[in-house]
Amino acid sequence: MARLVMKFGGSSVADIDRIRNVARHVKREVDAGHEVAVVVSAMAGATNKLVELCRAASVLHDQREYDAVVASGEQVTSGLLAITLQAMGIAARSWQGWQIPVTTSDQHGSARILGIEGGPLLDGFEAGQVAVVAGFQGIHAESGRIATLGRGGSDTSAVALAAAIKADRCDIYTDVDGVYTTDPRLVPKARRLDKIAFEEMLEMASLGAKVMQVRSIELGMIHNVRIFVRSSFDKPEDIDPHRPPPGTLICDETEIMEHEVVTGIAFSRDEAQISIRSVEDKPGVAAAIFGPLSDANINVDMIVQNVSADGKTTDLTFTVTAADFERAKDTIEKARSAIGFARLDTAAEVSKISVIGVGMRSHAGVAASAFRALADRGVNIRAITTSEIKFSLLIDAAFTELAVRTLHTLYGLDKA
Ligand code: ADP
Ligand code: ASP
Ligand code: MG
Repeated sequence: MARLVMKFGGSSVADIDRIRNVARHVKREVDAGHEVAVVVSAMAGATNKLVELCRAASVLHDQREYDAVVASGEQVTSGLLAITLQAMGIAARSWQGWQIPVTTSDQHGSARILGIEGGPLLDGFEAGQVAVVAGFQGIHAESGRIATLGRGGSDTSAVALAAAIKADRCDIYTDVDGVYTTDPRLVPKARRLDKIAFEEMLEMASLGAKVMQVRSIELGMIHNVRIFVRSSFDKPEDIDPHRPPPGTLICDETEIMEHEVVTGIAFSRDEAQISIRSVEDKPGVAAAIFGPLSDANINVDMIVQNVSADGKTTDLTFTVTAADFERAKDTIEKARSAIGFARLDTAAEVSKISVIGVGMRSHAGVAASAFRALADRGVNIRAITTSEIKFSLLIDAAFTELAVRTLHTLYGLDKA
């Protein structure tokens, strides 16, 4: 007997038929004698609609009320799945975040989980009951207000719950049958990975692969939760209980025997570039630029500094998320006299392509071959950053697909 957390994302619970399919997956594990806690997302598209309703009510709104609204999507699916399981003769009950409780910080809209009281669910297991937990939500204990964990947060609910109840495995059921070398929607030749190290998945997720929420991987890493990404679209009847199902295990690096140099490629179209031209090259300039951005709570990602066309001053380029673009431009304009510069050039239509692999630690020249391959295809690189297990390139958004496919082939990631 094992203790499992099974998480189902929005497309897996998109309608009653799909919820029935989920219930059959749960039944399969219950029949095999396992203790099961299920974490569900809202029905596909439901959270977007709720977010839109908040905006329609008032563009500037109280984040606590936003959370009250958007958490409702998961309340619906947890109840519906419990009803469906009961109709199949399986003892089940729904749990809202506040009922367990899942306690969180007070950063409404992107709260962090502080603790999960596993006791009540374990009591339910004793009584042979499946726990159906609403993902994405918790409660800020001091204020008693509902809080949500940021978009894609049900992944984090699932991994945190797996850690809290010491589950043997956390299965993430989604609309793809695992983690691929890159988004299979963009690159049909993408290959499913059998295993990926936490560190690599963390980079993939934070650099744009939305298959798992970043925070869920951080938690998995800290608590060493075995996370298995698999498809909910497989028919439960077709799954052979004696053979491992197709999917990807996210695990400790030491569990992976063979490392390719490059494991995967992530991309993000959610970027914007700001170049400050002809800044005087003297101490304090970077502080004059990045101080006000930081005060305005704007996260700066890539930073590149080079000599200006006049040979005397310097140009400073950096990127921010598309959401922060207007505010960032505004902040720099306001600091203009303190910084002192000739011109501001900006570009909103840019993408960041990132190449990831723990094998890069021990291989030189990985990035250099990318520069050549992209140059051969006429793709201009606007900025570059590197770290131990990844490098990222900023390019014109129009070339995203070409660049990802080119690098995917270059590093031998295409499936046979
Ligand atoms: P869910 O609703 O189940 O949480 P998501 O839409 O959040 O599912 O995540 C699954 C999607 O992530 C896939 O449909 C796929 O397009 C996308 N994705 C991006 N990068 C990858 C990758 N490297 N491997 C697998 N899926 C990826
Ligand atoms: N329903 C939430 C969202 O769409 C959480 C999730 O699906 O993980 O972001
Ligand atoms: Mg998701």
